[in-house]
Amino acid sequence: MFHGSRPGSIEVISGVMFSGKSEELIRRVRRAIIARRKVDVFKSHLDARYAGLYHVTSHDGLELDAIPVDTAAEIVRQVHADSEMVAIDEAQFLDDDIVTVCTGLANRGVRVVLAGTDTDFRGEPFGPMGSLMAVAEQVTKLRAICVVCGDEACRNQRLLDGKPARYDSPTIMVGGRESYEARCRHCHRVPSADEDQRALL
Ligand code: ADP
Ligand code: ZN
Repeated sequence: MFHGSRPGSIEVISGVMFSGKSEELIRRVRRAIIARRKVDVFKSHLDARYAGLYHVTSHDGLELDAIPVDTAAEIVRQVHADSEMVAIDEAQFLDDDIVTVCTGLANRGVRVVLAGTDTDFRGEPFGPMGSLMAVAEQVTKLRAICVVCGDEACRNQRLLDGKPARYDSPTIMVGGRESYEARCRHCHRVPSADEDQRALL
């Protein structure tokens, strides 16, 4: 049985928007490049935050070239055979196959690092993030600052026309009519779900 440090693992960087996930992903990729590792960077197509579809961009303007993908299968098709590290941003938008794909890459010796928002605007698990966190060796959960009270923020507040979006609005909205704020659990508002939860108490 081999007990040395064989390469191949899964790291997840999770948290709300503005918590610094992209900054942390970019930091890890830059360090791997300094170490002369062969790195492939992917980013879910759905996020066109700064029209920079071919970049991973942090809210502070740090940038990295990235290959846009819609599905986990596209990552399999585009990853280089000699890749030593695969970084994936906005992983919450990918399909559940991403779990099998990352497991396969890690088993064949690739360091896989994924960043993604782990809860949607309702505060519920987002896409494959929960499963990815379960199979990962290392999970980093970051928090932002609540724009209402200044505590640490663990929720994405969706606003539609400046007002909290209702629970039954779609998880992914196309068209960008909505805006988001980082908020703590207590300042987070999801009309109708809040009422339902109060009825249970
Ligand atoms: P993420 O990828 O998690 O959305 P980014 O790495 O893109 O986060 O951006 C993080 C940066 O956003 C922080 O370093 C900070 O400068 C800025 N920022 C803006 N609003 C907030 C907030 N409410 N809480 C924390 N950081 C914020
Ligand atoms: Zn708050």
